[in-house]
Amino acid sequence: MDRLFDNCRVLISSEEIQDRVRELAQRISADYSDRNPLFITLLKGGFIFLADLVRNLSIPCEIEFVTASSYRHGMQRSADVEIRLNFKSDLAGREVIVVEGIVDTGHTLVNLMRTLSEQRVKNYRVCTLLDKPSAREVEAPVHYVGFEIPDVFAVGYGLDFMEQYRNLSYIAELSPSPAGMTAPERNVIRPDFSVSSVAPVMLEGSPKGGRGDEREHR
Ligand code: 5GP
Ligand code: MG
Repeated sequence: MDRLFDNCRVLISSEEIQDRVRELAQRISADYSDRNPLFITLLKGGFIFLADLVRNLSIPCEIEFVTASSYRHGMQRSADVEIRLNFKSDLAGREVIVVEGIVDTGHTLVNLMRTLSEQRVKNYRVCTLLDKPSAREVEAPVHYVGFEIPDVFAVGYGLDFMEQYRNLSYIAELSPSPAGMTAPERNVIRPDFSVSSVAPVMLEGSPKGGRGDEREHR
């Protein structure tokens, strides 16, 4: 299995992630101190982030999962995202915090936001561990961001490449060049939290596709 890690270069260490997750959890606990938010997590990429985030909260919360699937295969991008709610909870009137591993083009979030709006949630905010603002193709709201990263392909801490690497405790950049080669410096930023608007809005999004059975779960 060693060969699996040959092309990985650490972008964010496990310690940096844990520090930042604690900060995010403290901020969310303060913002939602007298509320009971529902954390809706995107599978599969958000599962480890969610697990660490909620264990650092000091407020009550509930947890549900959704799947997003598309024709994304490996590193390819796709605007055609299908959202599936895998639960029966009534979302009407709920305060929702969406938990994502990474926001890239924004298409997944836009589709999820449309679903939440249709379900008449009271409001929502988005909490993502990683954000790649330079890769955005559609406007997508993010309120709590762990790290802004450049437009590289990240793996680890829940994020996969062809279903591998999710179990890394750190975030690595998957690169086509061998690990020993000199790589350019990568700028990783811890942005300020912005919570300007929590009102649900209908967003312009991508068209729905019809080729149901080939979809890859993220
Ligand atoms: P978006 O719809 O914003 O383009 O992409 C969101 C989804 O694409 C994420 O939930 C994740 O599954 C996948 N994705 C986007 N960028 C990356 C990346 O750098 N690494 C990995 N492993 N997945 C990514
Ligand atoms: Mg994936």
